[in-house]
Amino acid sequence: MNPNSLTRRTLLRQTFAMGGWALLNPFWRALAADAAGPLKVKQVRVIELTDAADPNHKSQYVEVISESGLVGLGGPIYPEQDFIIAKDLAPVIKGRDAMAYEALWDAMKLSDRHSRAGLYMMAISAVDIALWDLRGKHLGRPVYELLGGPTRSSVPIYGSMLGYDTAPEAARKTARDFYDRGFTAQKWFFEHAPAAGSDGFNKNVALVRALREELGPDAEIMFDCKWAWDVPYAVQFAKAVREFNPKWLEEPVRSENLDGYTAFKRDGGVPVAGGEHLYSRWEVKQYLDRGLLDYVQTDPEWCGGITELVKICTMCEVHGVPVIPHGHHIWASLHVVASRSARVCPMAEFLFHWMPEKQYFQDTIITPDKGRITLPTKPGLGFGIDDSKVASRREIKG
Ligand SMILES: [Mg+2]
Repeated sequence: MNPNSLTRRTLLRQTFAMGGWALLNPFWRALAADAAGPLKVKQVRVIELTDAADPNHKSQYVEVISESGLVGLGGPIYPEQDFIIAKDLAPVIKGRDAMAYEALWDAMKLSDRHSRAGLYMMAISAVDIALWDLRGKHLGRPVYELLGGPTRSSVPIYGSMLGYDTAPEAARKTARDFYDRGFTAQKWFFEHAPAAGSDGFNKNVALVRALREELGPDAEIMFDCKWAWDVPYAVQFAKAVREFNPKWLEEPVRSENLDGYTAFKRDGGVPVAGGEHLYSRWEVKQYLDRGLLDYVQTDPEWCGGITELVKICTMCEVHGVPVIPHGHHIWASLHVVASRSARVCPMAEFLFHWMPEKQYFQDTIITPDKGRITLPTKPGLGFGIDDSKVASRREIKG
């Protein structure tokens, strides 16, 4: 055995014993990658899993497989991404160094003139997340350590109450139940848009009033307008609920309507959150330059993956705007939040109704306790596929 490699392994172990922060230093990062050996992409594929308990229940993941046989997992993904991943992105990164995340991200982004947004950027995001899982498995460390963390041993979450009854009495009961279990920050969703007239408007106000009355002044209550409103309605509504001190109103108008955000920011008088439908740092920059958001909510599953979300966090930090990522991919979101300071990423979102389905086929399930998620310690993102739930696997070739 080469004595140099022994020395390197010893150094590597010491590096990790000092904490993953050392990987931030290019020297240590290079040393770690060298000691673990090369990480070359052998194959990228989309697999469809069929539920052993229900043949009609399926889910799809992207796998990035290294020449050494490691599998990085991304997903579950949307079926509409299959073709893009299998036909367009797989050839771009096959055979390349999986550690070179900047080069791979750029190569995927430059592989199509329409990569800026939508399904193409979502497909890039899925592959990017799978690549980070692969890197973590290769180095034997959780992804948040590769990103410079951890900054905390557990991450606070706010509960996203999509799917719960918003009638005031039902909402009070649900909100109280979660609050008493430690979920003191909750986001609720309005059911009524301008077309529902004054009756819908008053029902939306009643939800805000009921939750503030029920949970008291210390609770953090946020509200999602589901980008379904117009500016006059949103401004009138903001004025009506200011006295209840919402932490934010989210996506009052569609994300492409920057003029609408400008008017709402000027006249609404309550904090505004948004960004789940923004793709990449360039779209977020337009909002930051105009001072339109008090909280940025880009989603690693949509905005360009972990690689891009980290850059967005840095950009938002410079503008003094916290990032609280949209929570469709709780694993990716968790690792990024855990790697940034609490000032930059104060918390993550957890969708109570949505997460069980999203994590159904996984062998490790994230479940928050008393309003927090303890950081995973397994290499990579921290989950694999639970084979006992899988009746069959099928590769989707696009
Ligand atoms: Mg939302």
